Amino acid sequence: MSKTLQIEVDPVLCASQERSIFGELNYNELQQIQQDIESSSAPIVADVMFSKVGKFVVLTGRIYSDLVLQCAACLEPTVFPVDIDVKLAITNNEDRLSLVPEGYEPYLFEGDRLLMSEVIESEVVLVLPSIARHDVCPIELPKSSTSKDFKLEAAVKTNPFEALEKLKKY
Ligand SMILES: [Zn+2]
Repeated sequence: MSKTLQIEVDPVLCASQERSIFGELNYNELQQIQQDIESSSAPIVADVMFSKVGKFVVLTGRIYSDLVLQCAACLEPTVFPVDIDVKLAITNNEDRLSLVPEGYEPYLFEGDRLLMSEVIESEVVLVLPSIARHDVCPIELPKSSTSKDFKLEAAVKTNPFEALEKLKKY
């Protein structure tokens, strides 16, 4: 059973109830990273829970997916597994950011309600590589033809010397 993450919650209330949220974000629901990933990406799954650490509302759990990115080298799709250990201290008060409990990342939101899809997607933004690449590309790269060209050029360069050698002999 999948639930949408397009929900606004009251973080303080959720924390007092220790509310768990399990849901999925589909490609067409993404606001921040849609242009960076392929539409064949798996949904982003969030399995998180609100609770309290001291006076802070914290969100813990996991965010996971298999995103499909375009390889910068061969332009073919490459799967980028995402598995994020979520440990967020959530606050709408900028002054409290420096007081965030140890081991938690601060997450600042505006107003009284928290849009879950926004929090989840923001976490994925942080782990996306700026350039995606296969470890080993499935197709031959233009790079290998470049090295052939290089060898060819090197061979051509030795020729004048060989010619010179020949001239010396005669
Ligand atoms: Zn590649």
